[in-house]
Amino acid sequence: MLVAGFLIGSFLNVCIHRIPRGGSVVVPSSRCPRCGHRLGAADLVPVLSWLLLRGRCRYCGGAVSLRYPLVELLTGFAFALVFLKTGFNLMLLKYLVLTSLLITASFIDLEHYIIPNQLIVFGLGSGLLLSPFTQPGIVSSLIGALLTGGVLLLLAVASRGGMGGGDIKLAAVVGLYLGWSQGLLALFLAAVMAGAAGLVLMVLRIKGRKDYIAFGPGIAAGAFVTILWGESIVQWYLASFW
Ligand SMILES: [Zn+2]
Repeated sequence: MLVAGFLIGSFLNVCIHRIPRGGSVVVPSSRCPRCGHRLGAADLVPVLSWLLLRGRCRYCGGAVSLRYPLVELLTGFAFALVFLKTGFNLMLLKYLVLTSLLITASFIDLEHYIIPNQLIVFGLGSGLLLSPFTQPGIVSSLIGALLTGGVLLLLAVASRGGMGGGDIKLAAVVGLYLGWSQGLLALFLAAVMAGAAGLVLMVLRIKGRKDYIAFGPGIAAGAFVTILWGESIVQWYLASFW
């Protein structure tokens, strides 16, 4: 599952690079973004190629972004964690699709401050297709999409533009995949983690108080923690406070 994640991560890198630039993610074959040289199989081994070439293009010597091995490693370990949680069944497929979508959306958001509509349409379509056959079922999923999207819409109106339309749509996709209770938990965790990350960035003076901080990665992190530990967190909460 780790290796499958590395390979999918390699594909997600292509999506992260091409979707915001309006390119196809299927054709043409991979090229160096700097010199345009077609990349061979030896250049495309996840993580290893980057390490062996010390982060440089074999043909032009230009720097290859650290994002490439990072996304591959992240996807590999995320896939392995999801597999340990679900085992082999339809929930595995559902969570792997969502995880891939969240990683892609996060890295595009970090770089371009947008979450492309193609990703949202893919997320809503695949979520609708999978939810009747997986937990927590289609009803909870539909309510979840309306609720999580609605909460962020309210926040966006209240904060007058502090929250992008892409964030609202991504939250709706998360609600559709996780259902209403886990979807709301994911949003709560997203707010806590994004708040903490924002504070750290401000303390380190990487971002100022007025700088825009992408919320997409926060939503992604909240959703991923919920995939792995959501049920335990809800049970712990109910046992402790009710
Ligand atoms: Zn090159």
